[in-house]
Amino acid sequence: VIAGPCSVESEAQFRETALAVKDGGAHMLRGGAFKPRTSPYAFQGLGLHGLQLMKRSAAEVGLPLVTEAMAPDQAASVASFADMLQIGARNMRNEPLLVAAARTGLPVLLKRGMTATVDELLAAAQRVLAAGNPRIVVCERGTRTPEPELRNSVDLVAMLEIKRRSGLPVVVDPSHGTGRTDLVEAVACAAVAAGADGVMVEVHPNPSVALSDGHQSMHLDSFGRFMASVRSVAEAVARWSP
Ligand code: PEP
Ligand code: MN
Repeated sequence: VIAGPCSVESEAQFRETALAVKDGGAHMLRGGAFKPRTSPYAFQGLGLHGLQLMKRSAAEVGLPLVTEAMAPDQAASVASFADMLQIGARNMRNEPLLVAAARTGLPVLLKRGMTATVDELLAAAQRVLAAGNPRIVVCERGTRTPEPELRNSVDLVAMLEIKRRSGLPVVVDPSHGTGRTDLVEAVACAAVAAGADGVMVEVHPNPSVALSDGHQSMHLDSFGRFMASVRSVAEAVARWSP
């Protein structure tokens, strides 16, 4: 289970989240410092300063950190603060970035583009592999949906196809995959029951004032119950690892 805020907003916000998700039993921390945002007027992230804050809290709680690099010339510096490098959905097709991320030597968390087919996603994974880095985790984060009440639609069949065709570990992101906090736990459990190797969820101390994605972020108080549900499903299908 990878958990953390959409964006790192301050040291207090990230540290409080890190302590809570560690306490709840998460395996890894997430948080964005360089944020791909649809609007140029939305919060764009704390950048380098955010990476420094996250690295401090991650070290304090003793969890590895995954964070996103958005440009090829950012990959090496972002990698120096992280344990895994995220390629966001908007950048799945950014070939120079895939190569630069691969060359950092860190494991790469490759998110599915919002309209990418499984073939296109696997071609992007091959780009990382061909650049000399086999440590790839693929993330199914939902694709565009005709349903106006949802941000995206999680595609568990694609998740199974990615696993079957690549043999790579696959995590499901039910936060971006639905865009709705009330759906995150059920979709995470469904993903684990179906065979996902992990889930990545957004968590925030106060989602109503989050600078990004509060509408899909779980409150820290809900994280313990979330973990208990995911864990009981994972145990039922013999997939739990502490
Ligand atoms: C994220 O995980 O921070 C993110 C921006 O998600 P996506 O690239 O899937 O939209
Ligand atoms: Mn987000």
